[in-house]
Parts: sequence; C-alpha cells; structure tokens
Amino acid sequence: MDEVIIVGAGIGGLTLGLALEQANIPCRIFESVAEIRAIGVGINLLPHATKELAALGLENALAKLAIQTTDATFFNRFGQLIYQEPLGRAAGYDHPQFSIHRGDLQMVLLEAFRSRAGHDRIVTNRHCLGLEQDDKGVAVTFSDGPGGANRFTARGRVAIACDGINSAIRKQFFPDEGEPRYSGVNMWRGVTRWKPMLSGASMVRAGWLSHGKMVIYPIRTVDRDGLQLINWVAEIETPNYRKRDWNRAGSLDDFIGRFSDWHFDWCDVPAFIRAADSVLEFPMVDQDPLPRWSFGRITLLGDAAHPMVPRGSNGAGQAILDARVLTAALSEHADPVAALAAYEKQRLEATTRVVLTNRTNPPDAILREVFERTRDKPFKAIEEVISRDELVALSEGYKRIAGYSKDALRR
Ligand SMILES: Cc1cc2nc3c(=O)[nH]c(=O)nc-3n(C[C@H](O)[C@H](O)[C@H](O)COP(=O)(O)OP(=O)(O)OC[C@H]3O[C@@H](n4cnc5c(N)ncnc54)[C@H](O)[C@@H]3O)c2cc1C
Repeated sequence: MDEVIIVGAGIGGLTLGLALEQANIPCRIFESVAEIRAIGVGINLLPHATKELAALGLENALAKLAIQTTDATFFNRFGQLIYQEPLGRAAGYDHPQFSIHRGDLQMVLLEAFRSRAGHDRIVTNRHCLGLEQDDKGVAVTFSDGPGGANRFTARGRVAIACDGINSAIRKQFFPDEGEPRYSGVNMWRGVTRWKPMLSGASMVRAGWLSHGKMVIYPIRTVDRDGLQLINWVAEIETPNYRKRDWNRAGSLDDFIGRFSDWHFDWCDVPAFIRAADSVLEFPMVDQDPLPRWSFGRITLLGDAAHPMVPRGSNGAGQAILDARVLTAALSEHADPVAALAAYEKQRLEATTRVVLTNRTNPPDAILREVFERTRDKPFKAIEEVISRDELVALSEGYKRIAGYSKDALRR
C-alpha cells in the first residue's frame, strides 16, 4: 500500500523505477506485455538525458552498446553540405549524446532495475484498464495482457501513468481527446548493416519533407565485418496514414522512389535503404498539450503526458527528465498530492514548449530554410543562401527550448 505504482515499463517507467529505487522510495512496475523484448529501432539521448542516466550509474553500460554521436550534419537533397556542428562531448558537454537501439536502451534499464530493486518489483502481463483513488491511496485495475479475461487490482500510495502514447490512464481523464494528431508526415524506418559514414558517429539530416527527408545515424559500434548497425528514417509529407502501431511493416515501394537519385560520396542512399533488415511504417503524430497531468494521487509521465513528433530527438529525453523531477518531488513532499502537483508545475509548461516547437521549429528547420530560400535548387555557395550565424541561431534556439543548452546543463 506504500508503493508507487508505475504503469508501463518503457523508457519512462523503467527510468522512474530506477530513480525511485535510488531515492529509497518503494515502487512496483506493471507492464502490459507478457515478455519485454528489445523492440524498436534507433533513439537518441541528448546530454540532458545522459546526465540523468549517468546519475543513475548507467553511463558505462550504455557506452558499451551505443554510439557516442559526434556531429550533426545537414545536406540538401542534392548532397550539398549545408551545416555541421559538434554534438555531445565533442561539443564540450560534460555528458555524451548517445545514439542507441531502443531495445538496447530498454534492456539496460530493465536489467539494472531488476538487479537493484528485485525481480518481483516488475510484473508483466498486466494491462491497465483504469484506476480509482480515495484519500488513502489508489487502486489500479489490470487484465492479464490486452484483452485478457482475468482481473487484478494493485493498491499503492500513488499511480504514475507511463503507458505511452495510447495511455489508458490519459484516456480515463481526457475521454473526449480523440486520436493522436497527424502531422501530415509519414515515416518509414529501418536499420541497415553498412560501412561507417562520414565520421562514423554522424547524425545526418538531408532533404526536406515535401520531397523526401532522410535522417541517418549509427546505433551500434562496428562489428567483425567492419559494419555498423545504422538507423534511418524516411520522412515524407503524405495525406493519408494508418494508425500508429510500433510494429507495422512498411513497403519499400511506397517511398524509395523519392530517393532514387540520392547517390552521394558518403552514401548510396537507395542501395543503403534496400539493404535494410526490414522496414517499419508509422505516422508522425503527437497530441495537443494538456492543461493538467496530476489528479490527486495520479499523474502522467513521458509519452502518456506529452507525446511529441520525433523531430528533435527529445521523446525519450523528456521522459527521463520527468522521472528525475517526479522522484525529487516525491522525496521532498511527504504529502503525495503536493508532490504530484509540484512535479506538474515544473514539467508541464517546459514540455509544452518542446511539443509545440517540435511542430514548428525543430533542428531540421535548417533544412526548411534552405529548401525555401533556394526554391529546392542546388546552390553555388551556402553563404549566399544563409549565414553561419543564422544556422547557429536556429540550432541553439531549439537547444534552449528543449533544455540542453550547455549553459543550462552546467547550471
Ligand atoms: C514497442 C515500442 C517501440 C518503440 N520504438 C521506438 C523507436 O524505434 N524510436 C523512437 O524514437 N521511439 C520509439 N518508441 C517510443 C519511445 O520509447 C517513447 O517515445 C519515449 O521513449 C518515451 O517513453 P515512454 O516510457 O513514455 O513510452 P514507451 O517507451 O512507449 O513505453 C510505454 C510502455 O507502456 C506499456 N503499456 C502501454 N499500454 C499499457 C497499459 N494499458 N498497461 C500497462 N502497460 C502499458 C507499453 O507496452 C510500453 O512498454 C517505441 C515505443 C514502443 C512501445
């Protein structure tokens, strides 16, 4: 009855479990799937997030699996270099930027949680259906997996919804919200075993959404054949989309035509895409920011609280920051209702800014500027199109909003 109940063992739920365990606050995680498997493709952890993961003692475990990303490099669709800047430690941060397979990240978090808190602290095959509360605690109802016939109730001090973009708990508090909001951009994603590109630790963004944009970055170190596992995302403005399912298979023919002439000295993009293990398809969606997350002893965290379009590498990072702030609030306030209110006060407005900026001016706004100013034509010299100062200002502006400018992190 004294426990914090965490619903969902994704990136946010597991990080929260680890942070609470470190603060000696008892918790238990309930996860919908029967077996947590290393699902997903690439994910980026920027220095504000890796700082928190280092405080949880996870930097070495992550560094063994991840790429320490060294630079962000932007090209137009003709392969002309627009802008390059250092990232993570290469940019002078105290903490790295990691590009990592989401499954690798989830497994590091899961193993650390199990070994530190105990195997019984995470219960799988528990799909949250809803919850209620009184002035003494919360009661959360689960079925044995999605659609399961059996019912279970877990009681605790507070309940934290970490159940992702289709959160059942968010729906309970906001029943009329409707489906996630489609951005007009569809994504095809995959991983390809390929020789290292550029610095071997570059995060490449190229092209623009109306014609076809690619994001490419390695997520595992070089294997015995000298190849890396490299993540890619093709993003294309598309009027129609199908509901997001993290496991939906995509078809090469639906998008590869947009990249048919992308033969660059750093990558033969069509050949690289064709060599992928498999292709996933999902729409770029988010939700309008909510007016509140905390309802007495219940609150939302991560994608359940603030799903965002993945254009700023911030989805996982903001969930990790939520976990740290919520843990601090629960440590500081004896009254759980006050703790959850304090957490919301610190995080709701901050994440709202990130959600809205990801719609309008994420880091790839650099590509949009050049696309518009050149009317989608090759340029002679980039300085004739946009000054270095303007490019730096676009990049730094996003860092400030998302909370990972160097100054903010040092403070
Ligand atoms: C299978 C999967 C694959 C993903 N792949 C990528 C990727 O490749 N790249 C990327 O950038 N982001 C990916 N994401 C999203 C990314 O993990 C999140 O955007 C971000 O890390 C925030 O994490 P979160 O914990 O809020 O949500 P998530 O990481 O989505 O975690 C939510 C967790 O809650 C569980 N859950 C859902 N409903 C219930 C319920 N009713 N009861 C109990 N548990 C429930 C889910 O099974 C999941 O484990 C993926 C998410 C999932 C679930």
